[in-house]
Amino acid sequence: ATLFASIEMAPRDPILGITEAYNADKNPNKSNLGVGVYYDDNGKVPLLECVRKAEALLMEKPAARSYLPIDGLAAYDKAVQELVFGADSKVIQEKRAVTAQALGGTGGLKLGADFLKRFSPNSQVWISDPSWENHRALFESAGFVVNNYPYYDAATKGVNFEGMIGSLKTIPAGSIVVLHACCHNPTGADLTDAQWKEVIQVVTERGLIPFLDMAYQGFGDGIAEDGKVVRQFAEAGGPVFISNSFSKSFSLYGERVGALSIVAVTADEAARVLSQLKRVIRTNYSNPPTHGGQVVATVLSTPELRKLWEDELAGMRVRIREMREAFVNKLKEKAPDHNFDFVTKQRGMFSYSGLTKPQVDKLRDEYAIYAVDTGRICVAALNTRNIDYVIDAIAKVIK
Ligand code: PMP
Repeated sequence: ATLFASIEMAPRDPILGITEAYNADKNPNKSNLGVGVYYDDNGKVPLLECVRKAEALLMEKPAARSYLPIDGLAAYDKAVQELVFGADSKVIQEKRAVTAQALGGTGGLKLGADFLKRFSPNSQVWISDPSWENHRALFESAGFVVNNYPYYDAATKGVNFEGMIGSLKTIPAGSIVVLHACCHNPTGADLTDAQWKEVIQVVTERGLIPFLDMAYQGFGDGIAEDGKVVRQFAEAGGPVFISNSFSKSFSLYGERVGALSIVAVTADEAARVLSQLKRVIRTNYSNPPTHGGQVVATVLSTPELRKLWEDELAGMRVRIREMREAFVNKLKEKAPDHNFDFVTKQRGMFSYSGLTKPQVDKLRDEYAIYAVDTGRICVAALNTRNIDYVIDAIAKVIK
């Protein structure tokens, strides 16, 4: 037999499958709430004005594209550190934080996973139940056993904090705990400040390794507010791993801009960590691409563009919140027997809406409204033109 003769077809990506079915649907009222991107009120992925202006600035001085350093553009890494840890951060001053440009948030997670497999090979990984659908496969592909800690409570539509903290209190020291720093994907349910405090205490005392995934900084309560947990973990001493992404916050999905930051306990440790992280990068893809990193570094370090970005990001955050409020208020009218108040308490782009699989099927088959089987909807796919149609349909399927 030839090499490929016995290869089986891999399962299709469930979310991409939704988009394919949506694209083929002829219903003029069709809405795709299954996506994982921010759409503006016109139902389009926006090109941010700050990005357009930064690109115009870069075009004024066209530059040759030599290789970047293995860990990326220095100006980018510095800007990322100041954004993630805060400009006045002690871990930056003490040179305990290292940051490497990565291929999106996914790239940051994979660099961290490969690094951890080298230096903590016997650890197991713990992710929330449920979590971003790529977490499990990503850590498994790095060679780890991946487990779940309890997270979502379908009865309260919030976090099962007792279950979560109980689990963190029993897993072995040295376990890697993946935490969503803000705007939990897929549920939209985040921890309170007091709950985070407890998590940080348990993780630190028990010698667990926290790996914070921050793909939505600025979509919850604000840039600094959403980054607060990262700073608190860093102040607790380290080690801490943080992957962050600009896919959503700069609407730069296709440019693959993100980073991995690692907080070490001393500056000397940090220097050794960075040297080893560079080896991980070198053997994967040598060095990252130039364009996206330059755009983000330019915006973050040019005061006028930085202000524009913060305003545009606030615009996205506020629009999502308005859609959450409209969703709840309109359903109150159309389906007064149901309570959807939890939707305004959730943060970020997503909502675990509480819709069941049969209801999701009915929405698709009878109304051309596409959601994920789990009931996850992307609130950022709602807009002033499709929301009434969507609410009418939901009210009918939950009757
Ligand atoms: N983590 C989470 C929780 C995400 O939702 C996503 C993507 N939506 C990522 C990581 C990956 O981000 P990126 O597209 O920048 O690779």
